[in-house]
Order: sequence, then C-alpha cells, then structure tokens
Amino acid sequence: MRAAILAVGSELLGTERLDTNSLRLAEVLERYGVELAAKGVVGDDRGEIAAELGRLLGRFDLVLATGGLGPTADDLTREAAADALGRPLVFHPEIAAWIERRFRDHGVAMPESNRRQAEVIDGAVVVPNPRGTAPGMRIAAGGDGRRDATLFLFPGVPDEMAGMVSSHLEPWLAAATAGRGAREGRVFKVAALPESTVDDRIRGAYAEFGRETITILAHPGEVQLHFWATGGEAERRARLDAVAARLRELVGPAIYTADPAATLEGTVGDLLRGRGESAATAESCTGGLVAERLTRVPGSSDYFLGGAVAYSNRLKESLLGVPGALLAAHGAVSEEVARAMAAGARAAFAADWAIAVTGVAGPGGGSEEKPVGTVHLAVAGPGEDEAAVEHRRVRFPGDRRRVRELSAQLGLEMLRRRLAGLPSTAEEAGSWR
Ligand code: AMP
Ligand code: MG
Repeated sequence: MRAAILAVGSELLGTERLDTNSLRLAEVLERYGVELAAKGVVGDDRGEIAAELGRLLGRFDLVLATGGLGPTADDLTREAAADALGRPLVFHPEIAAWIERRFRDHGVAMPESNRRQAEVIDGAVVVPNPRGTAPGMRIAAGGDGRRDATLFLFPGVPDEMAGMVSSHLEPWLAAATAGRGAREGRVFKVAALPESTVDDRIRGAYAEFGRETITILAHPGEVQLHFWATGGEAERRARLDAVAARLRELVGPAIYTADPAATLEGTVGDLLRGRGESAATAESCTGGLVAERLTRVPGSSDYFLGGAVAYSNRLKESLLGVPGALLAAHGAVSEEVARAMAAGARAAFAADWAIAVTGVAGPGGGSEEKPVGTVHLAVAGPGEDEAAVEHRRVRFPGDRRRVRELSAQLGLEMLRRRLAGLPSTAEEAGSWR
C-alpha cells in the first residue's frame, strides 16, 4: 500500500503556520508499515484542491487529507473532494441535528454556516468528530474507470484530527495491513561526528543491505541511523540484528544509544549515576549550554552539582582558579586555560568530573591563529596526573549558534567516552579537527 498526504489551508503556505498534521499522519503510516510516497500542501482554492486530490487518487492507494472542513467560506475541501470524485454532496439531517445539539449544549444557537458541515459525499462513511463540529469522511474511490483508492478527509484542527486518527484511521490501517508482515525500525544515535563521516563509514552497509534499508538523519552534533525490516517477526528481527551488528562494526563507539527516547545528556547522567559519581561544568563560549543540557534530565541533581559561566578572564581566575599568568601567556582560548578550567572546576566544586569549554564562537573575535570556530574542550576526572585531564582542540564549522551547540555536544561526548571506558573522541577518524 502506497499513501499520500494532502494538507489544505492557505495559512500553511504562508510564513506563520507549519503543517504539523502531516507529521502526525506520517508517524501513524510508518507504524503500520505503509509507505508514504508523497506529501503536499494546497491553499483554500477549490480548483487546486480538486486537481491535487484527483492526481493523488489516480496514483496512490490511500490519500489522507486534512483541513478545510470548517464552516467558513474558505473551507472547501468537501466540495473539492466531491468534484474530484465526480459525486454529489448529500445533506445528512442527523449530522445537522448532532451539530445543533452540540451548540445548544454550549448555550449558543448554531450559526447557519455550520449546516454545510452536515453535507457528506455520496457513499462516504462518516467519521465522527467528538472534539469539534466538522465530521470527517472515508470514501472508497474507484469505479467509473477510476483507480481503486481510499480517501480520508480530516479536519485541520490538530487535536480534532488526532482524535479521529486514533479512533478511525488506526483501526482501518490495522485491518488493511493485517496478515502482511509488519515493518519494524530501530535507531542508533551517534554523537559528535560529522554527518559526512558517518555516511562514509556506513557505505558498506548500504551496499550490503540496500540503500533504502538505512536512513541517515542529521541534527547539530548528532547523527541518527534509522534502519528497517519487513516480514514475519523472526525474519524481521534477524535482519535488524544483522544490520545493527554491521553498523556497530562500521561506526563503533560513537553510537551512544539504541534507545529512540534516549539523549546524550541522559546517557551521561545514567553513567554518572551508575558509578555514583558527580560532575560540574566550567563554561566560557557556551555560556552555560552544557549545564543546561545536563539539567534537562529530571533527577539530574543526583549527579550534577552545578557549574560556572566564567565568560571573563577575571571570573576564570576568581571562580575557577585559572592562574592569571596562564591567561596572559596563552590567551583565554587555549589548551592550557581549558585544562586549568576543568581541573579548577573539579576542585572548586568538589566534583568527580568536570567539563570545560573555551572558544571563539564568532562572528567576531577570530584571528589567524585562532579562527572563528576554534574551541578548546577539557574533561577532568579522578586522578592527579596530567592524564586525568583530557583535552581537545577543534575547529567547528558554522555560525555562532552552531559552534556553541557543537561545543556542548562534544563536551558531553568526551565525558561519556571516559565514563564508559571507551576510546577518546580524539582518536576518532573523520571527527572535527
Ligand atoms: P481548518 O480545518 O482548515 O479550518 O483548520 C482549522 C485550524 O487548524 C486552523 O487554525 C489551522 O491553522 C489548523 N490547521 C489546519 N491544517 C493544519 C495542518 N496541516 N497542520 C497544523 N495545523 C493545521
Ligand atoms: Mg483551513
């Protein structure tokens, strides 16, 4: 079964409102293993809506439309769908009575315009809308030389659509896809490696399992590998295990989780909690982002003590004990200062671990020696020797925001590697240099 989604609403073509309904619908299709082949947005224009619905119904087995079922003059999806299907709209008095009652229950008389919502395409199954006035419809298109297809019309109000998706679309999909082996997916999340590096490394897996089996999704500082298998349960699991094993071979310790809900900061937190150890932060160019990430996790007070945003040299000295001479000799953005910040935070806050970040986030402040994007990170851990503090110098691409996000991400990943006893990110081929 191949499906398409059409979002209707002129506001969705503007700059103010995003089509989020299609994301919700896509998620449901994915869960039932239905391939989403196309997705579109049209304004509130009867001709455009009809043309688009006609085109999609001619190509796909399932078409899901949202929006334009309201009572106002710009809600034209009912009429447009009737045009596309070549069928009349039929007035249903029982729907009008239901809408009227709904208004009465809220203490108001039904506006005349709402009567339109009781019009149903001939032959459609009405999908009740307990959260609003606009009922939806399910229509078996086909006949008269038309291709067989199923069309669902849902209202645009996200909450109303969501209710009807659960009560009607999902049971329908369950029945329509029954007996067919389900599609099952897994995810690996990879921290602090560029997308191109990850893509390069998994090339062998694309070749082995098929390009369509694995999807790569990049976020700042994080790459997600989604992979899929279809078929009976045993067959599906075996294939997923095989892809997973190969990806682990190719990507290695940069994979920090296989749990779709897990985050890097949560993973670091679990490791700290498991070891019964604490962490603190010393941040300059990230302005507290690392601490913000760590404290996103509920219960992070179990292991996160706090940190210093030491933006000025004066505070690097007074809060973190960075020697003034070191700052004068090497500058705030330097290996020496990053190391001293980490060690200083560890001592000042009596933490087992400390992450320090100092860099040139830009757009100004760069120099030949320390161009914009240059960041020094250090992680200090238990032990008194030099090796207890790990350092990395990197040059991140992108604007100020990106440099700061990537810095926080790499700081967390450096700590995760040490807590998990994994090789350092510095030895990671293809990582930022
Ligand atoms: P409608 O059913 O077209 O009258 O839409 C009612 C409300 O739902 C409007 O406020 C829209 O902005 C919102 N809405 C309509 N379509 C979508 C969509 N695809 N994604 C998110 N919101 C939507
Ligand atoms: Mg609308």
